[in-house]
Amino acid sequence: MSAAAGVVDAAGVIAWLRAFAAEVAARRDELTDLDAAIGDADHGVNMDRGMQAVAAKLPAGEAGAAGTSSGEAGPAGTPLGPLFKTAGMTLVSTVGGAAGPLYGTLFLEMGKAAAKRTTLTAAEWAGVVSAGVAGVRMRGKAQAGDKTMVDALLPAAEALREAAGSGASLAAACRAAADAAAEGMRATTPLVARKGRASYLGERSAGHQDPGATSTWLLLETAAATLAGGAAGEHTGGAAGEHAPGGLASGEGG
Ligand code: ADP
Ligand code: MG
Repeated sequence: MSAAAGVVDAAGVIAWLRAFAAEVAARRDELTDLDAAIGDADHGVNMDRGMQAVAAKLPAGEAGAAGTSSGEAGPAGTPLGPLFKTAGMTLVSTVGGAAGPLYGTLFLEMGKAAAKRTTLTAAEWAGVVSAGVAGVRMRGKAQAGDKTMVDALLPAAEALREAAGSGASLAAACRAAADAAAEGMRATTPLVARKGRASYLGERSAGHQDPGATSTWLLLETAAATLAGGAAGEHTGGAAGEHAPGGLASGEGG
């Protein structure tokens, strides 16, 4: 129904959340290892538990990225708000620790912003993502440079707005956002943590990539691989396939 490959719709969002769940599962131990260095070694486990619960609640969508659906017809005309709300509430209720409520807030605020809309242009999508990021900042009170997921989210939202504002396609805008998230993630390595458990380590937190910023990069990377394909049935066949680099901690001997 939605004409061009250039809008976010429910099929795209469902493919995205499934792809993120699959990617988190595949990289659970790597994420947990990052958290072992500066936290309590549970970030991968936390996110995997939460995203598996989210995936289980998603309506059967296109076979798409994760390839686990029954292949029913795509959910054209499904409003996006409730989809994000379900994801957010599920994360809040299934994930202990800091990241669950923060990712939950991200999705809940995105759901409020998307509300009853069934399709979003690139510019509208940038607005929805920005609303989610604002929610995370409000909830966690982290500033840029505090060595948290905000350090990946903020540049991603900014890149998305900038690309969409200058007329880029949804696909190009999502790619720019993922690249900005990757850069933000890598930039957390030298930082001293000022929020979350890692801040208890003080100066000793420097030299390690932040786990939450790393899972956030996966979130943006899977978005780039799935969202723009939603409308035209051009899912790129595996979010992890083409772009996701081999090692999560790009600065550390991989
Ligand atoms: P916990 O720290 O409770 O064990 P996780 O290990 O699942 O939770 O998540 C840790 C990640 O949460 C950190 O790497 C960081 O990115 C993120 N985080 C922690 N506190 C905050 C905060 N106040 N604002 C934003 N992100 C935060
Ligand atoms: Mg932890």
